[in-house]
Amino acid sequence: MTRKIEAKVMIIGAGIGGMAAALALQRRGFSVAVYERSKEIREVGAGVIITANARRALRDLGVDAALEALSNTIEVFHTCHYETGAILRAVPNEEIRQKVGIASLGVHRADLHKVLMDAVLANDPDCLHANCQFVGLEQDSLGVTARFSSGATARADVLIGADGNVSAVRSFLFPDEAPKFAGQVAFRSLIPDALVPESIRRRVSVMSAGPGRYLLSYPLRGGEIMNLVGLVQSDTWEEEGWAIPATNEEFVKAYAGYEPDLLTLIRNIPENNLFKWGLRDREPLKTWTVGRVTMLGDAAHPMTPFLGQGACMALEDALLLGRAFSASQSVSEAFRRYEDARRPRGTLVQLSSREEGLTLQDPNKRRRTAQDRGLLDYDPATVPV
Ligand SMILES: Cc1cc2nc3c(=O)[nH]c(=O)nc-3n(C[C@H](O)[C@H](O)[C@H](O)COP(=O)(O)OP(=O)(O)OC[C@H]3O[C@@H](n4cnc5c(N)ncnc54)[C@H](O)[C@@H]3O)c2cc1C
Repeated sequence: MTRKIEAKVMIIGAGIGGMAAALALQRRGFSVAVYERSKEIREVGAGVIITANARRALRDLGVDAALEALSNTIEVFHTCHYETGAILRAVPNEEIRQKVGIASLGVHRADLHKVLMDAVLANDPDCLHANCQFVGLEQDSLGVTARFSSGATARADVLIGADGNVSAVRSFLFPDEAPKFAGQVAFRSLIPDALVPESIRRRVSVMSAGPGRYLLSYPLRGGEIMNLVGLVQSDTWEEEGWAIPATNEEFVKAYAGYEPDLLTLIRNIPENNLFKWGLRDREPLKTWTVGRVTMLGDAAHPMTPFLGQGACMALEDALLLGRAFSASQSVSEAFRRYEDARRPRGTLVQLSSREEGLTLQDPNKRRRTAQDRGLLDYDPATVPV
């Protein structure tokens, strides 16, 4: 594809969104440098469901087949009664594939991150910079200078904040708007298959929502491990961080009354393999862009995980950012195209996830998944930009 503007792009945050954006821009001929606060650039041990809309972005980025080979095409998604385990709804993945053209994948986050990072490094082995915590920026008519906690600086034509739901880039651009506790505490664990009760394994993917709580399990890596995530309503949360060790006892206590095999699954979690964190939320913004700086992924539209679309949205954003740059004559045009294409959808999915959270944890309300809401029909490779 012919490049119409010359722009050196700086990305803050080497998570799924930042890495995918780097790849989308590189593939369209742009020079990219990515700055990540962690000492080592890698993802944590947790699962993520990647649906058709995001897989279309991964196909365009040339990494979908590699990811599929490492992942699970979950055969069927079950919604079960939280006390008895009785199946209330079964959605075969094949049915999803027939409706939207591509099946959903159960993916280890580290695998998704690695296929993206390998492709980025193959394009430019020197573009990733670890141990660089963004703390502020200055911009002028020619470019942006980012400042890091070490005192170092870096300069580029534009800066993309891809630094997650407590984004320092967003706080710098919009200092009056702080992330707040979303009233939900999350537990997460990866459990070896040998420790999974047979009835849970047989049901493949189990989502069970009880009053004020929700639990989801699905297999990763060809069934070697079971991903387990729980979300519990809570009035308070004081600790910072999202990888705080939790105990099996407190997890079991939070799910008192749940079907015995799910409680056995929780009790079987191996030592040092259970973490908790408080979910953060922010209100939708009227703009994501200030001058030569914009945002993507959770930085732009932090969302609760009830529709399983946060990483998918970050992948969609990444591809549209690359397409917008490729279609534009100037940085301002590229940012306008990107934001016009992405902000309505980011806001819609952010607000829908919030609504679904309240629905899910209320047994009297009817669930509407991302597919039910038509979100999987979106094609980030062909929507106008
Ligand atoms: C329980 C749970 C389950 C989920 N399940 C799903 C699912 O099934 N499907 C789905 O699509 N999504 C899911 N999500 C959402 C998904 O995990 C996020 O939306 C996604 O990770 C967002 O990607 P990101 O790149 O924008 O941000 P992040 O993944 O948070 O990456 C941000 C990166 O920026 C770095 N960083 C932060 N601050 C700085 C700084 N100051 N300087 C430099 N670097 C910095 C971080 O270290 C990190 O590497 C789930 C989320 C939760 C909480």
